[in-house]
Amino acid sequence: MRHAKVNTVLPLATKIRAGLHHGDVMTGAVRIRSLSDEDELASEGQDTALEFENLVRRQLELLGEDPAREGLLKTPERVAKAQAWLTRGYDLRVEDVVGDAVFEEAHESMIIVRDIELYSMCEHHMLPFFGKAHIAYIPDGKIVGLSKLPRIVEIFARRLQVQERLTEEIAQAIEDVLKPRGVGVVIEAVHLCMMMRGVEKQNSKTITSALRGQFRDCPMTRDEFLRLAYRTMA
Ligand SMILES: [Zn+2]
Repeated sequence: MRHAKVNTVLPLATKIRAGLHHGDVMTGAVRIRSLSDEDELASEGQDTALEFENLVRRQLELLGEDPAREGLLKTPERVAKAQAWLTRGYDLRVEDVVGDAVFEEAHESMIIVRDIELYSMCEHHMLPFFGKAHIAYIPDGKIVGLSKLPRIVEIFARRLQVQERLTEEIAQAIEDVLKPRGVGVVIEAVHLCMMMRGVEKQNSKTITSALRGQFRDCPMTRDEFLRLAYRTMA
């Protein structure tokens, strides 16, 4: 019975990770109820990882490659591990990441964390896009540990994404956790699917923003945030 439950609740990628990382810290990210659940998940995960590796092997064949040549022998395994790592955000929950790092605080000015490194993968081509996120909020009685903001970015970046949704999801998470007076998120990123395919200018950046509360309604707040966020952009 438990087998079926594990199967329906967890995404494929979660099982791959559980299989690949059985026994190490990664399984800590998976919500596992008991030791036997963990074993079951790990063995199921190993099957899923093998299935994924076979898929990559077939992909190499279809590309006209020989998966048996020396340089490619371990590629399916490496790709499975890399994909599991790059999509580990599916395992992470905002409440787990933030934990008890929310504090009562009377501070009423804008808090901004700039230049948060961000790596994600576009869901249209499964190619990386990467850049920086700038996050600001105006508290309404609650603040969050500053180190948690990059970790919130990580939750949503480490899965298949479009930049617009990624920006909104980060803003929404901060709104849910802190109920602040306002929140603003700006992401500037370059997309390999554009750069490598020569679709657009090689160095064009995509900039997205999500503004809530005072950041949307108060022009002064919005201008202050955008000026700070865009300061180093060139
Ligand atoms: Zn793309």
